[in-house]
Amino acid sequence: MDAIEQLAWWLAEAEAAVAFTGAGISTESGIPDFRSPGGVWTRHKPVMYDEFVASREARARYWKMRVEAYREFAAARPNDGHLSLARLEQSGRLRAVITQNIDGLHQLAGSRRVIELHGTARVVGCIGCDREWEPETVHARIDAGDDAPDCEFCGSPLKSKTISFGQAMPPEAMAQGERLSREADVFLAIGSSLVVEPAASLPRVAKQFGAKLVIINREPTPLDRGADLIIREPIGATLRAVGDRAAH
Ligand code: NAD
Ligand code: ZN
Repeated sequence: MDAIEQLAWWLAEAEAAVAFTGAGISTESGIPDFRSPGGVWTRHKPVMYDEFVASREARARYWKMRVEAYREFAAARPNDGHLSLARLEQSGRLRAVITQNIDGLHQLAGSRRVIELHGTARVVGCIGCDREWEPETVHARIDAGDDAPDCEFCGSPLKSKTISFGQAMPPEAMAQGERLSREADVFLAIGSSLVVEPAASLPRVAKQFGAKLVIINREPTPLDRGADLIIREPIGATLRAVGDRAAH
């Protein structure tokens, strides 16, 4: 049995399979991952949450980068990787997707149960009163010269609903991600270097609680030694093949 058949078979048998995705699933949609040259992540130093809150100048820097990143996201379409995970969920073979990504492509592909550990770039919120806006509305204010927009209701800074460095993870999403990982019988880690938290720990938790751990990533990861199956191939083609097998 080859790796694709093996994985399709495990998914067919599984009752609580979950996928955990990182930036690597979106590179085939044209969004650079963390370390690819040319990504906004390599061109700008990230603004820490404390700096964001403390300094208007930092907020202006933050927004400059966010507007740039959002252009990339808004132009991107789901690829075979996202679409195959959505299909697996619809046919009852996948319980949920836990993602570190902020690009919203899983939802656009049709995935229903998506746990976003790092928030989403598709919504802007007020850090004071939690009101929300579409990014376009806020970007229009920035284009009009307001380089660090504040909330028109309470005066607090507006921020993308993404988790910044130095900002706490959303407790509800973290709790759900941990529960799904503990209950998983198959845990697919896809397109993540598995080095930053919680990416490093969720696959470990799943494995500890009895899941088969499958890693799909073109580079080795620190968790490869504990994996039951490793596929070092492009994600889109791999998941499409798995989905085709699992459909029969
Ligand atoms: P990462 O960049 O550290 O690792 C991505 C991994 O995917 C790499 O090991 C790379 O070899 C692999 N990869 C990339 N394209 C692939 C492909 N087509 N086929 C197979 N493997 C492929 O990603 P991470 O672990 O998710 O950490 C990055 C952090 O930055 C995350 O916290 C995430 O929130 C954020 N981020 C998000 C996005 C996004 O939303 N699309 C993009 C960049 C960074
Ligand atoms: Zn407000």
